Amino acid sequence: MTRSFWKSAAPNTNFPKLNENISAEIAIIGGGITGITTAYLLAKSGKKVVLLEAGTISGGTTGDSTGNLYAMVDKRLHHIQSKWNEDTASRVAQSRGQAVNLVEELVNKYQINCSFKRVPWYLFSETEKKDETIEKEIKAAAHYRLPVEEVHDLPIPVKVSMAIKVEGQAQFNPAAFVRGLAEKIDSANCRIFENSEVHHIEKEEDLVLSTDSAKVTAKKVILATHTPKGIYGLQTALYPYREYAIAAKLNSGDFPDGIYWDTEADFHTSMRTYSKGEDNYVLVLGGHHKVGQEDDYSCFFKKLEQNARKHFDVASIDYEWSAQHYKPADGLPYIGESSDDNIYIATGFSTDGLTYGVLSAMILNDQLNNRENEWSDLYKASRFTPVKSAKNFIKENLNVAKQYIKDLPGKAEAGSFDEIAADQGKVVEVENEKWAVFKDEKGQVHCQSAVCTHMDCIVDWNDAEKSWDCPCHGSRFKATGEVIEGPAFLPLAPKDPAAREKE
Ligand SMILES: Cc1cc2nc3c(=O)[nH]c(=O)nc-3n(C[C@H](O)[C@H](O)[C@H](O)COP(=O)(O)OP(=O)(O)OC[C@H]3O[C@@H](n4cnc5c(N)ncnc54)[C@H](O)[C@@H]3O)c2cc1C
Repeated sequence: MTRSFWKSAAPNTNFPKLNENISAEIAIIGGGITGITTAYLLAKSGKKVVLLEAGTISGGTTGDSTGNLYAMVDKRLHHIQSKWNEDTASRVAQSRGQAVNLVEELVNKYQINCSFKRVPWYLFSETEKKDETIEKEIKAAAHYRLPVEEVHDLPIPVKVSMAIKVEGQAQFNPAAFVRGLAEKIDSANCRIFENSEVHHIEKEEDLVLSTDSAKVTAKKVILATHTPKGIYGLQTALYPYREYAIAAKLNSGDFPDGIYWDTEADFHTSMRTYSKGEDNYVLVLGGHHKVGQEDDYSCFFKKLEQNARKHFDVASIDYEWSAQHYKPADGLPYIGESSDDNIYIATGFSTDGLTYGVLSAMILNDQLNNRENEWSDLYKASRFTPVKSAKNFIKENLNVAKQYIKDLPGKAEAGSFDEIAADQGKVVEVENEKWAVFKDEKGQVHCQSAVCTHMDCIVDWNDAEKSWDCPCHGSRFKATGEVIEGPAFLPLAPKDPAAREKE
């Protein structure tokens, strides 16, 4: 199994499991950067809040990220400008800048030990082919009054044709920030529960959230779960991608602080440094693909390692992990009240969600306190943008439709359990059903339905993470069927291997 660098470099929290029925004004599901910052702001404003986290605080994507904070965007500001307009791109940069400022303010106020520092952000091309992208981004950033500069050398040993440098962006350990902030939330107004997975939301007079041990009743619910749990029309405009990460310990070499994004088309990477005790690490992230749609997932780690060794004096690869992000159809996240009354969402962050998560908290805090927020309209969750979404919407939903074909007879990967190697899984056809069959290291088989409990797509075996990944909307399940992440609430349905043996 893979493990994240940040989660092991941050002190753990120790909040209790929910064991009694309770009520609150607002229930937040999810203890990543979005949920915890929202809980902090709402509790500070006097709201009575309960936060339920399925695992541990910052145990989701936040703790798997790169830990960079910036006003720019993964999709590039000049793309936002051409898809939307100058005003929108300018407001995106401004709103994101304010969110980064809030993180800095909180770190200083509570002295959160998370290695926060202001650093420059770079986007560079290795060859002239990509210079046009850099030129456009320089123009856009300058237009939005960001402190931008064109450079042709970087302080790290990589080949550079052209680069944009933006001063005053930031880096931190995201798990340490979120866990540190969780400890500072006003406990008189907010109760936090870990290991308390919500598996059902019922609409009665109020909203009732069920975990396996107790219920929470609330007037309003915030799904700070990265992607909304359950079935929402919006999921046709949210596209799940996975990305890979390694932390390489360096033998030698001076790697200055900074956010370094390579535009190299076939293997776009993001690099940064981090010191842990005496050891210096370089983190290299990249290699994104649609969830559940690859044949060989492990190859991405190898490519990242090659990339790291190409540029740096690497002693060892100490950590490798992967994580998920959700691209929005029209390039902007969805933040605010969903199509369901009293349920609020914050999603579609792409790989920019540490900043967007904090921005969501600022917006949701104002909305739930009936205050104006200058960014609410820009990111409104209920917006429908057919023209701006059309290209991605058609491409991605055709891709989803193609995934359903895998449910047809004859489309399984194996006809018998014998074809499965130890510690691996395959989709096997059993009496016209697709089973997700995992054979553990001792040779014992674990069988469950391969039909995703979210919207009935057939899951795919991920050899790098030892998980079942749904290629349609990004739900992921452990080898033994329990939910890891994504919109599915319920585990894969168990199947009895004895039934197969009787055949
Ligand atoms: C490889 C990679 C690198 C990235 N790097 C950066 C970066 O440098 N900068 C940046 O800005 N963004 C980055 N991002 C994006 C960013 O990490 C995410 O957008 C952000 O962390 C999302 O935060 P969140 O709190 O919304 O979700 P999460 O951190 O995923 O938190 C959601 C929480 O909800 C919990 N949950 C889910 N279901 C339930 C349930 N049923 N009951 C209870 N709890 C539940 C989960 O356990 C989880 O802890 C990166 C993304 C990837 C994939």
